[in-house]
Amino acid sequence: MEQAIENGASGGHIAQQLAPFFDGAVRGHHGRADEKGFIKTGHAVVNAAAWKGMSRSPGPLETSWPGIFAAGDVRSGSVKRCAAAVGEGGMAVEGVHEVLKTYA
Ligand SMILES: Cc1cc2nc3c(=O)[nH]c(=O)nc-3n(C[C@H](O)[C@H](O)[C@H](O)COP(=O)(O)OP(=O)(O)OC[C@H]3O[C@@H](n4cnc5c(N)ncnc54)[C@H](O)[C@@H]3O)c2cc1C
Repeated sequence: MEQAIENGASGGHIAQQLAPFFDGAVRGHHGRADEKGFIKTGHAVVNAAAWKGMSRSPGPLETSWPGIFAAGDVRSGSVKRCAAAVGEGGMAVEGVHEVLKTYA
């Protein structure tokens, strides 16, 4: 993803690159999801392959793919309630802003 942004990729191209991530996440590949299939974020993904050699750690809602966030019911460890999902959505937006700042 970060590579795609640096290369000025279009939204469609980025979506193409992300397809294997989401496919892998829902199938639990490479430890991207917990044993129930919920997507891991934050501390749970620090050892993910894509984070090796990164100059920063994953944010609390950031997935095993740097720059990709998970919020609400789909996220491993979320409380599965409406208010929590809305709050996490807001936090994820803030996380995206933080990541984008690293390109400024
Ligand atoms: C029967 C029931 C009762 C509940 N009662 C309460 C309650 O009283 N209070 C409370 O706080 N919470 C309650 N909950 C939990 C609450 O509904 C969830 O916590 C909340 O809806 C989570 O929001 P979300 O946005 O994370 O996920 P969702 O609301 O599930 O939204 C995910 C959306 O993504 C869409 N989607 C899925 N896959 C794809 C795809 N591949 N492409 C595009 N779109 C996709 C889905 O169609 C869905 O619209 C209840 C849940 C259930 C099932």
